[in-house]
Amino acid sequence: MDLKNAKTIAVVGLSGNPERASFKVAKYLKENGYDIIPVNPTEAEVLGKTSYPDLMSLPAGISLDIVNIFRKSEAVGPIVDQAIKRRAKMIWMQEGIVNEEARKKAQDAGIDVVMDSCIMKVHKRLIGRDNMKYDLIIVGGGPAGLTAGLYGARGGLKTLLLEKSMPGGQAAMTERIENYPGFPQGIGGPELMMSFMEQATRFGAEFKTEEVNKVDFSSRDKLLVTENGNYSAPAVIIATGSRPRFLDVPGEKEYHGRGVSYCATCDGAFFREKKVLVAGGGDSALEEAMFLTKYAGEVVLVHRRDSFRAAKVLQERAKKNEKLRFVLDTVIEEIKGGSKGVEQVMLRNVKTGEVTAEPVDGVFVFVGNIPNTQFLAGAVELTEEGYIKTGDLLMTSVPGVFAAGDVRKKFLRQVSTAVGDGAEAAMAAERFINELE
Ligand SMILES: Cc1cc2nc3c(=O)[nH]c(=O)nc-3n(C[C@H](O)[C@H](O)[C@H](O)COP(=O)(O)OP(=O)(O)OC[C@H]3O[C@@H](n4cnc5c(N)ncnc54)[C@H](O)[C@@H]3O)c2cc1C
Repeated sequence: MDLKNAKTIAVVGLSGNPERASFKVAKYLKENGYDIIPVNPTEAEVLGKTSYPDLMSLPAGISLDIVNIFRKSEAVGPIVDQAIKRRAKMIWMQEGIVNEEARKKAQDAGIDVVMDSCIMKVHKRLIGRDNMKYDLIIVGGGPAGLTAGLYGARGGLKTLLLEKSMPGGQAAMTERIENYPGFPQGIGGPELMMSFMEQATRFGAEFKTEEVNKVDFSSRDKLLVTENGNYSAPAVIIATGSRPRFLDVPGEKEYHGRGVSYCATCDGAFFREKKVLVAGGGDSALEEAMFLTKYAGEVVLVHRRDSFRAAKVLQERAKKNEKLRFVLDTVIEEIKGGSKGVEQVMLRNVKTGEVTAEPVDGVFVFVGNIPNTQFLAGAVELTEEGYIKTGDLLMTSVPGVFAAGDVRKKFLRQVSTAVGDGAEAAMAAERFINELE
């Protein structure tokens, strides 16, 4: 027996005084559809029902689903004996009532027992959980997720957005965004993201600050688990973005946003005719280094090996670029600077061990990205690097589960492309739901 399936609850020790906990609990249970049987020798009637002196006095034939006890711990024994005799299916000792001996006796008689717990609180939690059903759940409140929230809610879907920290994602951590259309002078990342948030919630998207730790996409209603409970919906959009891999050297955190950057498209223009250093040896490091030569006077590419992982064609092109200088077999040991930002980096040659200081105005780190897909634990198909594979209409390998923004395998990871993804995924989710019905 459990609380959900129970119908009849005998409340032992039920007071007729509306101020007492037993009365409040019983009243609540009655309002929620349970058949309450008051058991208390000092009351004649409670909540419009006859009160019985004890469980043995109840008319024969009453099927007792739960005996809910409001008595001192030491007085519980005889009540449990009676409950066993009356073949109750469950005994519920209220918060603060503890009687191990009685519990064991009831359990030995095959009766389910809950001890030291408020039946009303548990019921409220149960109801709450049942209400956590939505049409569409979006995981991640960055530009992709917030746009999906706006489109989902505006399209009339009961939409929930689960974000583990502040709304706005990586874009909210970017001081200035100069390449998002509609803002010719640029706009602060946090300001832009707050307006995304305002627009999504204005249309009714519900925003909760909760991290999704686990998912189960095996049923029609997909399940998302956070610390606060379980949420379900037939359609889910994963928009959890990715995070840049850090170098993990002294000074990197300190100068992040003050000369240390992880995005050339975003920050390159701040380094016109200046000297910047790029760390990395893959495709993105070479591509971004070449991109940076459009602005910077000199770009120094530092790579820890003597050869590049990047595609040959990229390497050839990079070698022909006169503004690019390569420093191989070398790692960054430390980033140093002053009040205005980065001033120099300490470089160590991994073969000779020699350490030199290189004066620079900026450091761009492209040593890889980590997509935020660990919580999915293989529930949808990923690339080798951990990005979500999407097909038609941004659907993942699971029907009804979509991916939008930086978290999916795609060519360009920017606010503008995340926005496009969010809109498309939400409309695709709406169509998916309509076809289900
Ligand atoms: C330093 C920097 C500067 C940039 N500058 C620019 C720029 O000038 N212009 C531009 O267009 N782009 C810029 N970008 C790129 C841009 O920020 C991203 O492309 C964009 O934010 C991607 O949006 P998204 O919604 O896909 O992911 P994100 O912005 O990464 O948002 C994902 C969200 O999901 C949340 N999340 C992750 N896991 C969970 C979980 N399990 N449960 C709940 N929530 C979760 C995260 O907390 C995060 O808020 C920059 C990026 C960086 C790092």
